[in-house]
Amino acid sequence: MKFSDYNISSEIKEQLKVLGYNKPTDIQFKAINHILNGEDVMAIAQTGTGKTAAFAIPTLNVLQKKSKYNTGIRCLVMVPTRELAKQIAKVYQDIGKKTGVKVFGLYGGVDQEQQISTLNNGVDVLVCTPGRMFDLISQGAIDISGIKFLVLDEADLMLDLGFAKDIKDVMHHIPQKRQTLFFSATISKKIKSLAYDVVRNAIRIQISPKNPVAKTITHTIMDVEMDDKRFFLENIIKENEEQKMIVFVRTQVRVERVVAAMERVAISSEGLHGGIEQKDRFAILDRFAKGENKVLITTDVACRGIDIPMVEAVINYDIPDNPENYVHRCGRTGRGKHRGQALSFCSESEKELVLAIEEYTGDEIDRFDLDKGDYLEILGGSDDGSNNWQKLIDQENKFKDLDKEW
Ligand code: AMP
Repeated sequence: MKFSDYNISSEIKEQLKVLGYNKPTDIQFKAINHILNGEDVMAIAQTGTGKTAAFAIPTLNVLQKKSKYNTGIRCLVMVPTRELAKQIAKVYQDIGKKTGVKVFGLYGGVDQEQQISTLNNGVDVLVCTPGRMFDLISQGAIDISGIKFLVLDEADLMLDLGFAKDIKDVMHHIPQKRQTLFFSATISKKIKSLAYDVVRNAIRIQISPKNPVAKTITHTIMDVEMDDKRFFLENIIKENEEQKMIVFVRTQVRVERVVAAMERVAISSEGLHGGIEQKDRFAILDRFAKGENKVLITTDVACRGIDIPMVEAVINYDIPDNPENYVHRCGRTGRGKHRGQALSFCSESEKELVLAIEEYTGDEIDRFDLDKGDYLEILGGSDDGSNNWQKLIDQENKFKDLDKEW
């Protein structure tokens, strides 16, 4: 089935063509017609599957048809992060460009006055993070009492970030009679219970989390000691200068440290994490999306759900604590038909985490065959002055001790 066969407006069809969407993706195929029929949907699908358009296309179609008879916010899309609010609002704006439906992405960290004035001019689709939305509801600047659609996106991350109460509170501000579209990247008891609180007789859709990752991505694990990781990152970046890479590390402080370590060896990279001011976060993502900066070093939260084209490699500088995050991280590369690499640095203390990932995905990840000569060569090849000969000698002694143990 092609989009041209769907019962959606010619304005939306034209825009889909402009965006290069010809055929629906799996999630779109399974969700769009149900949403057009007025049904609730509960879907387990990740970013990369085309899930945003799966709810944006039908909701825009309904809103476009009824636009003459209704005013005020009619579709509320709640998302966990500011980056996602901006990204999803953009998808709505792109697909709905010719529909006349007014879309606004609302989030904290930026001036309220400008936002209030945009809201006063009329908004049909509000894509927002909970915090700023509640601020503006309490100031009387937002009225969501007339919404027709409630979309909860990345619901599992909303729970992880502590938004469960906000989701429940929002139910007091919206009509009982509405259509609810619930999207989560993963499923758990908590997610199910939240979903059943908000949806009614929902159509259930599950897009396997393994598929988007497995088909186009090559996964490799490399045994690297914690203190040596920066030298290996340096080596990989220098050997693949033209490639766009996302490097995932565990904490904000480590982001800063790795950026500084790369700077010392003349590699330009940018760090992204929740401690950076919002406008800077957007600018950093923009530069990375445009390829002006090729190496993005980030924590999990700052990068979740973000759709950036043509990322050739994901480096797990630190192995994620939660196996699901491994799948999320790797999903940043190998998008659509493009191939991607996912390389994970595994120190001794992280081996258990790798086993947990393999159990979760059901696949054993290939080990990179690195002998001790190659390992030392990478350390020795670093341009970092702090990587002096003493370090190499220490490392060599460590290997000798290991040999003895064998
Ligand atoms: P999402 O999972 O919503 O973040 O979408 C992932 C990517 O797939 C985005 O870059 C979309 O532009 C793209 N996309 C979504 N639907 C389609 C489609 N039907 N055909 C081609 N690309 C699509």
